[in-house]
Amino acid sequence: MKLELDVLEAFSKEGVLSRSIDLFMPRQGQIDMALAVARAIEYAETLVVEAGTGVGKTYAYLVPALLSGDRVLMSTATKALQDQLYGRDLPRLVEALGLPVETALLKGRSSYLCLHRLAMASAQSDMSDHRTSRSLGRIAEWAKVTRSGDLAELPGLDEKSPVIPLVTSTRENCLGSQCPDFRSCHVNLARKKALAADIVVVNHHLFFADLAVRESGLAELLPSVRVAIFDEAHQLNETGVQFLGISLTTGQLLDLCRDMLATGLQAARGLVDWQQIVASCEMAARDLRMCAGKAHPGSKLRWTDTVPEGLDPAIWSDALDRICASLSGALVALNTVSEIGPEFVRLHERAAELLNRANAFFAPCQTEFVRWVEVGSQLRLTESPLTIAKAVKAKMLEAPGEAGKTWIFTSATLGDDEKLSWFTQPCGLDDAKTLRVESPFDYAQQAALYVPPDFPKPSDSRHPVAVAECAARWSGRIGGRTLLLTTSLRALRVIGETLDLLFENSDSMEVLVQGIMPKRVLVERFRQGASRGQRGCVMVASASFWEGIDIPGDALQLVIIDKLPFPPPNDPMVEARSQALEAEGKSAFNHYFLPEAAVALNQGAGRLIRRETDAGILVVCDSRLASMGYGKRLIKALPPMHRLINEEALVSKLDSLTKTCTSETLPF
Ligand code: SF4
Repeated sequence: MKLELDVLEAFSKEGVLSRSIDLFMPRQGQIDMALAVARAIEYAETLVVEAGTGVGKTYAYLVPALLSGDRVLMSTATKALQDQLYGRDLPRLVEALGLPVETALLKGRSSYLCLHRLAMASAQSDMSDHRTSRSLGRIAEWAKVTRSGDLAELPGLDEKSPVIPLVTSTRENCLGSQCPDFRSCHVNLARKKALAADIVVVNHHLFFADLAVRESGLAELLPSVRVAIFDEAHQLNETGVQFLGISLTTGQLLDLCRDMLATGLQAARGLVDWQQIVASCEMAARDLRMCAGKAHPGSKLRWTDTVPEGLDPAIWSDALDRICASLSGALVALNTVSEIGPEFVRLHERAAELLNRANAFFAPCQTEFVRWVEVGSQLRLTESPLTIAKAVKAKMLEAPGEAGKTWIFTSATLGDDEKLSWFTQPCGLDDAKTLRVESPFDYAQQAALYVPPDFPKPSDSRHPVAVAECAARWSGRIGGRTLLLTTSLRALRVIGETLDLLFENSDSMEVLVQGIMPKRVLVERFRQGASRGQRGCVMVASASFWEGIDIPGDALQLVIIDKLPFPPPNDPMVEARSQALEAEGKSAFNHYFLPEAAVALNQGAGRLIRRETDAGILVVCDSRLASMGYGKRLIKALPPMHRLINEEALVSKLDSLTKTCTSETLPF
């Protein structure tokens, strides 16, 4: 009760937040959520909160967590959100509340500069490769002054830069306590700081990676934490299943071969025939890749029987057999030289781990898991759990020593029913308390929904071109300000190309297609929009742009969605989840496809209205939303927007947006 009173006081009109934070206004939804979090902390409960856009959920969980005085672990979906939480919201509140707490940020090892690998890369740098040498030089200069070693602090370094793998470590190649740079190692220092802090901010990838392999120190940290909070929790299940299964790639085998040859020739030349050992592993990896030679790149082959679909059983088993045999040979060789240096011990561990995984793929798939093979330049064999439910129960909620802990899960979209079952069931949180806090926005006034009638069906090949033509027409009326979200990369390409052609000679419109520049730069360009004499923008994007993009104000006023975002029915994971539901006598469409589409649609629609003064239109170019019975359920899951019945009404609203786009007045 004491914590609830403190929270109420902090959020009150005369409270500490109103006094110390610019533009802070008490909001009932935020207070409701903060009190629920405070109660959950006081009574060691598990709480799931869906907090609509604009509720201010970050403060609603941070304030009670900070005031509780407990040790807290916070996890969010991405490194960018982690930086925002740690660098902006957390220090602001710590200062406002005047609390003497130690905070720490912990990312995965690939985010930190590895001093040992930087030294090796600099020594081996080929001076003829000017770009790499220049980048290494810049990193070496920065290495002298950085305290955290977090590469996100290095200005201008693209997160996909090929130099990053050269200067960061992996679990496989880190030398650990044998490393000459161990004492000043940034990865170790970040972990030590996290272990000593009161509040630690991590991300879901790191959390689940650690739950699976206990590598980053989180496993030691978790038992001492009293409160664990997961923001952007809607991503937990999909992130978690990636780490809780087994996977083996031909790339991992080839990487091992490369490192084994380099280290063997450098430190144990002549003691082992490294060329022969490596050639045998490489050949086995290439033969395994060749098994799926005719499969379309990017395809996923179901693996419900002893071999993946479409592959010759004898050739597949033989190839997998030879992987195991060549790895066993490598293990014997590495064993004979393990005393020469720690590098050989690490190589031995890597080879043993890969052999374990290869052997696992000979055994039948575990129950409630699904197996498939992904074809690309390399072959990826995966066995993944269908959900994280069992792991959440066994390794978190009911793990030894975890009693008395509070677990909070929150996001703007967690399902389309009161019990938030889309989220709670796959996450094993059926017994958790749930709370839904409505968005404070007046959607009926601020936003409108239009579903074009007489539109080509989603399965019609003319559909993407029709979407692009409409988008060109409508965005032209408001000077860009349009985000077009697609459900597939193919649609992204066709729509992007069609819009490029339609605006080819336009001086006033720029088409921004996902992939033409880094996401951060693309979004920044879009934000500038038609301001300061720039051209207006239509941004066409898929996947990660459906969520996490925050463009408030009149830079974004029209969101167009090409199709209802149902999960792809042919995906092995989707198929396996559907079959599991049907085996329980449930309809996969009602219990899986529809809730998935409802949540994804809501995420996409959520890009439109970001604050009380925003106004905009959502267009869904999929007539099923209006014509099919299930469309009602999907519309009900969206915020309650005004419905536009024909294109005339749409055009009239678009025109009213342009008249009011710089004023604070709402157009409808
Ligand atoms: S301990 Fe590992 S991560 Fe740290 S500097 Fe050495 S090799 Fe790099």
